[in-house]
Amino acid sequence: MKTDFLKFGEQTKSVHAGEFPDPFTGASAPNIVMSTTYVVDPDTGFSVEGLEEDTPWIYTRWGNPTIAQLEEKLAALEDAEAALAFASGMSAITALLFRLLKAGDHAIISDVAYAALAEITNEMIPALAIEITKVNTSDIEAVRAAVQANTKLIYIETPCNPILRLTDIAAIAAIARSVGAKLAVDSTFATPIATKPLQLGANFVIHSLTKYLCGHGDALGGVILGSAEELVPLRKHTAIRLGGTISPFNAWLIMRGLATFPLRMKTHAENAAKIAQFLESHPKVKRVIYPGLPSHPQHELARQQMNNFSGMLTFQVENGKAAAEKIAENLQIIHYAVSLGHHRSLIFYLDSKDLMQSSFKFTAPEQVDSWNEFAGDGIFRLSAGLEDADDLIADLEQGLKYAFT
Ligand SMILES: *Cc1c(COP(=O)(O)O)cnc(C)c1O
Repeated sequence: MKTDFLKFGEQTKSVHAGEFPDPFTGASAPNIVMSTTYVVDPDTGFSVEGLEEDTPWIYTRWGNPTIAQLEEKLAALEDAEAALAFASGMSAITALLFRLLKAGDHAIISDVAYAALAEITNEMIPALAIEITKVNTSDIEAVRAAVQANTKLIYIETPCNPILRLTDIAAIAAIARSVGAKLAVDSTFATPIATKPLQLGANFVIHSLTKYLCGHGDALGGVILGSAEELVPLRKHTAIRLGGTISPFNAWLIMRGLATFPLRMKTHAENAAKIAQFLESHPKVKRVIYPGLPSHPQHELARQQMNNFSGMLTFQVENGKAAAEKIAENLQIIHYAVSLGHHRSLIFYLDSKDLMQSSFKFTAPEQVDSWNEFAGDGIFRLSAGLEDADDLIADLEQGLKYAFT
């Protein structure tokens, strides 16, 4: 009997959705199907145009039982009709851009967003005669003012990487709806535990599965979630052809990681809150940004839009670049590394000038002001892991001590 997982709680969905005992062996844990091809009836079609919901497995780029199980679990967690998994967050994002935009179209993209998205929308996508306007999407009026007759997509990230600025999803969804554009929300930092963008009016949600959803730093993946009406043709016409298929092994690892997902998010948020409070009271720390702190410039919106403040925070010190070297050398537990959302805590220093040269090309002075408000000269981006909070705080305390003696 097929179970309707949508009625269950987050933790039950995380453990059970998409999974079933193996009908041949009775195995309770899911199998990994690594086969790239499947033995089919001689009358099976060779073009993806013939792909229907009930088409049997043919070739893993078209679909795979293990990947399908992951997709079902993710759809249940996001309360979405459908999910489409990819090899990475970026392959999910590029598939969505290819699906929604063609020459002559216009898209509004958050002016601070994941660096690779920022970079492809600076040159590569405009070179396809697709017009891009970068806007501070936390400024609703700026988004409204950027809308054109040919606007097909508004793309936001909240909280945004790396500065943790928020965007009001419902307000932007209303603008998108009023002009017939689609709204896509990269919800990697929030996760479905904090925010459900589809319920707030978004058409698509994107996650880098590499981060909190996998949770263990050992598998790349990405997903797009939305209505079946949108995702069935996205799979058939775009994703299968572009080919950013996730490895079934990675799908299986991510599915395994998801079993503990709500439990992990609770601890990530608790640890981040404790660390944020510690840092805010530290004499060498100039500024801490964490959506859960009353000092976050958009704390009210965070409380409204996030049921969990997640595990990401940033902080600023004097001479951050020099301090970063000392801190990196003297940490015992926290890894000085990029990425986020792992069980291990990770820290990385991002220099403002470097980022503005490589990724974020602001055109209006208000955009620079907003950047400066959140990022100053540079930020330490900290992903609070699942270690004991006291140990993490002690690690940061001694790292900071070495940096400032
Ligand atoms: C990491 C990340 C991505 C890209 O994901 P990959 O899995 O590395 O391709 C996209 N958006 C956000 C917010 C991210 O943090």
